[in-house]
Amino acid sequence: MVGVFIENNKFKKQIKYVFSTVSEILGIEIYFYTDNDINLNTEVDFCNVNIVYKDSEKYLSFIDKLDKKVIIENSNKLFSQRYLEADSVPQSVRKYNLDYNIKNKKDIISIFSDDAELFIKQEVNKITSNIDIVSDIFFMLSRYEEVVLNYKSDDEIYNRFSAKESLAYKNNFLDRPIVNEQIELIWALLKKLDNSLVRKHYWGDNSFAACFTHDVDWIQKYTNLGRALKDSVKLLVKNKEIALSLKNLANYVKSKSDYKEDPYWTFEYIMDLEKRFGFTSTFYFMTGGETSFDNKYIYNDKRVIDLIDNLERDGFECGYHGSFNSYNDYIKMKDEKINLDSIVKSEEYGIRQHFLRFSAPFTWRIQEKLGFLYDCTLSFADSEGFRCGICHPYKPFDILENRVLDIWEIPLIVMETSIMDSRYSGYGLDEATEKVKLLINQVQDYNGVFTLLWHNSSFDRFNPQVSRWNGVYEQIMIYLHEKKCYGSNGRDVLKKYIKRGE
Ligand SMILES: [Zn+2]
Repeated sequence: MVGVFIENNKFKKQIKYVFSTVSEILGIEIYFYTDNDINLNTEVDFCNVNIVYKDSEKYLSFIDKLDKKVIIENSNKLFSQRYLEADSVPQSVRKYNLDYNIKNKKDIISIFSDDAELFIKQEVNKITSNIDIVSDIFFMLSRYEEVVLNYKSDDEIYNRFSAKESLAYKNNFLDRPIVNEQIELIWALLKKLDNSLVRKHYWGDNSFAACFTHDVDWIQKYTNLGRALKDSVKLLVKNKEIALSLKNLANYVKSKSDYKEDPYWTFEYIMDLEKRFGFTSTFYFMTGGETSFDNKYIYNDKRVIDLIDNLERDGFECGYHGSFNSYNDYIKMKDEKINLDSIVKSEEYGIRQHFLRFSAPFTWRIQEKLGFLYDCTLSFADSEGFRCGICHPYKPFDILENRVLDIWEIPLIVMETSIMDSRYSGYGLDEATEKVKLLINQVQDYNGVFTLLWHNSSFDRFNPQVSRWNGVYEQIMIYLHEKKCYGSNGRDVLKKYIKRGE
């Protein structure tokens, strides 16, 4: 067992949350020292090794009594008088060069350390560092900057916190799971003091997991001949695709008698592809909404009900895709959840917000109140990467109500439109594949969860702009399969993670 001594009283809840999350990810037991332990002058030798989050010299006599210890100095920059003020968000970060690599990383990113030179100092049975990873982890997991900054939205329509506003993007570390990196640093330091420490594994025989997800915004591309004609003309004139243009029209006619011929009806294709590798996935369905971004199908349409039956029978998860304005509207989300509950069998499922619209901590609060198993929204729409700095499911913290939220966040790492769309990252095919592989490699390094979103409508075989990407999805599957990844839907990945292979 690892003992944890937190000197700071004012922010104890926040700091305890950080250590609880760290212990969960490491799969180790921790013990928080109480006032009794400190004041009663009793023996405190029941923990093999300890972590001290130190503010001052006040408790030196107690700290001296602890045998082996890692001392992390509180920078008092986040947990300060300026807490929740916009100017408590730093503009830049620093790097500490490690003497040795930790999981292929040569340095540690530090957001909140004091102004002195960064150090990790080792003495007999004692390691001291001023790299304030506790503040950093809290900052990243709670999405602190998104809550306290009056951010400029990426545009007026979507009103989202853009990647470009984030500290991670501005300082070029959005592609690094810095929370995982810092947790590995803690682990490396603890192991230096006590090599007998062991941590639990989550994924059984697999070293990491992938969570495959599909937002079902549409089930049908053409509701009338006009749209099909328009697309065929576009294919002909703009793309000079004569054969495809004619095929598109013929397909429209065919889809009138067989809806599964519609270019957006790609569900069987996706299921077959994933099953080939022994994977399943989650399909998030929309069940309401009132904007022009919603209601592209009716939730209790027989086609949808039959599809959900098939998916659930085959072990896929059917979750909820919250309509455009549901992210900050409890009543709306509640009504939509009632609709979904009337057509799915499973009572436990996750949620993803449409267009990744999310307002921390309010969206989590609404989702928590409605009893969703997890949220899977948190990637930036305009860039792939680690928005929360982590590649593990975790319980978020509400910095305005000062409490841990009772909902899991499974951070999204890649949405296909982020890498495909020229308004966002807009990579070429090969570049995108390489970027995704680099992200996967990191998730594997930290035994985390690689969460991928690929819309069913992005497999449209009559749209050359998107159909050329189908191969990328397959290549990602192959890559993950070769790496012996546990690939499944959000619910099963989370359950396995919580059970830790037991
Ligand atoms: Zn959507």
